[in-house]
Amino acid sequence: MKPALTLLISLLLLSTLVFAQSARSHKSAPPHKAKPQAKAVRQPETPEGIHQSALIIDTHADTPQRFLDENFDLGENTPVTEGQIDLGKIKKGNLGAEFFSIWVEPEFKGQYAKRAMDLIDSVYQQAARHPDQMTMAFSADDILRAHQQHKFAALMGIEGGHAIEDDLRLLRDFYRLGVRYMTLTWSNTNDWADSSGDIQNPAIKHHNGMTDFGKDVVREMNRLGMIVDISHVSDATFYQALLVSQAPVIASHSSARALTSAPRNMTDDMLRAVARNGGVVMVNFYSAFVDQNYLNASSDPQKVKERDDEIEAYKKAHAHPDGSPVTYDEYAFIEKKWAAQFPRPPLKSLIDHIDHVAKVAGIDHVGLGSDFDGITSLPQGLDSVADLPKITEALVQRGYNAEQIRKILGGNFLRVMREVEETARRIRAERKESDALSVEDVELMLGNRVTADHLIQVVRRHGVNFDLTPQLRERLKAEKASDAVLDTIAKSKRQ
Ligand SMILES: [Zn+2]
Repeated sequence: MKPALTLLISLLLLSTLVFAQSARSHKSAPPHKAKPQAKAVRQPETPEGIHQSALIIDTHADTPQRFLDENFDLGENTPVTEGQIDLGKIKKGNLGAEFFSIWVEPEFKGQYAKRAMDLIDSVYQQAARHPDQMTMAFSADDILRAHQQHKFAALMGIEGGHAIEDDLRLLRDFYRLGVRYMTLTWSNTNDWADSSGDIQNPAIKHHNGMTDFGKDVVREMNRLGMIVDISHVSDATFYQALLVSQAPVIASHSSARALTSAPRNMTDDMLRAVARNGGVVMVNFYSAFVDQNYLNASSDPQKVKERDDEIEAYKKAHAHPDGSPVTYDEYAFIEKKWAAQFPRPPLKSLIDHIDHVAKVAGIDHVGLGSDFDGITSLPQGLDSVADLPKITEALVQRGYNAEQIRKILGGNFLRVMREVEETARRIRAERKESDALSVEDVELMLGNRVTADHLIQVVRRHGVNFDLTPQLRERLKAEKASDAVLDTIAKSKRQ
C-alpha cells in the first residue's frame, strides 16, 4: 500500500473511532429528564434472539444423494422420517449455510469422478431452481453476502479422497467446480490415506497413515484453498495431515471419543492438536457418536449381522439391469427401520459433546457438523434442521454467552475458512515471486490451455526446477506442449 494512502486510511479510521467514542459517551450520559430511548436499553439476549441473530453454518449434510437418486427438490416439505433438510425447515432452523456432501460410495469403483460430478451438478440444480431463496457460495465472503441477502448459501465438500482417482488434476478440477473441502478418506482406506473405518481389518492394505502422494494431496489442497477435512481418517493419517498442512484443518462431522468410544470420534489429544493447528471440530449429531448407551446397543454383533444380511438380500433382489450399484438411498429405509429399535438418546448427550470439545480444544475450535440425511438416528427433540434452535437454548442453559454461542454456530468455521483462503493466497504469491516452476506447474498451465507464447514467457521468467528427460518430454508432448515450449523448458533449468 502507498504511504499516502495508508496515512489517509489511518486518519479516516481515527476519525471514525473518535466519532464512535463520542457517540458512546453521549449514550452513557442520558440527557436530563429525557425519555429513555428504547434502543438504548439493552435487553439481555434471549436464546431465540441469539439464534435468530447468528450466522449458522453446518458443515455436513448428505442431501445430494436425495437430489440425485430420488429427484428430491429442496422446496418440498418432507416428513422428518424421509428427510432432515428442506428449504422450509432451513428457514425454521435459521440455517445460513450448508456444506452439501459429495459422497461417493466405494461401490462406484471405476466411476468415482463421474459419480462426484453428478452429485455436484445436483447441488447446482437446486440453487438454479430456487434462486430467490438460495445461492451457491465458494468463499467466506460469499457466505456473508448470501446472509445479507437473506439467502441460504449452498457449499460443497467431497467426502472420501478416493473421488479424485489418485489424480491431482481431478482434485484441481473439483476445486474449480466449487468444492471447498475434502475429507481425506471416508470409511474406506484409499490408495494414499488410511481410514478409521477399516483400520482394524487385516485384509485391507494400509499405509501407516499417508503415502507421499497423500501428502502431496494435502499440499495441493493448501495451495488451492480447499479445506483439509480429517473426519473419518485413522489416527495416524490425522497426525500426519496436521504435520503437512500449512493451513488450519477441520473435522467436518466428528464427535469426542472420551465421551463415546466410536473409533471415528476424536481423542482429547486430537482435539488439542486441532486447537494448536487453529482448526475447528464440528460435532456430529448421530446418536451412536454422541451416546455410549446407543453405541453399545447398536453395535450388538447379532443385530448388526441381521441388518447387513437384510441389506445384502435387498441389493440382490433389486440389482440394476445396467450393473450400476444399488445406492444407499434405495436401502436407507432398512437402516432407518433397524436403527429405530434402539431408544433415542437425550439431547443432553449431544450438548455434552459440544461442551467437551469447547472445554478441551477451546471455545474457538468447536462447531456443528450435523450429518443430516446421512444418519439414521438423532437425539430426542432433534428431528431435523428445523430444531437447531433447541441447541442454542440448551447452550444458554449450560451458561454459554451470546458471543460464545455465535462462535459455535458458525463464527469459528468462518474464521477457519478465511485462514485457509489467506494461506492459499500466500503460498501462490511466494511461488510466483521466488520459485522456479515444477512439472506440476507446467502441467497445470497446459491443462488450463494457456497459449504457447504465454507459457514460453512464464518459463523464461521463472525458470524450471526439473530436467527435461526424454520421458518427461514425451509426457508433456502428450499434454499438448509444443516443440517451442519444450525447447524453452530444456534451456531454463535453474540451479
Ligand atoms: Zn461421514
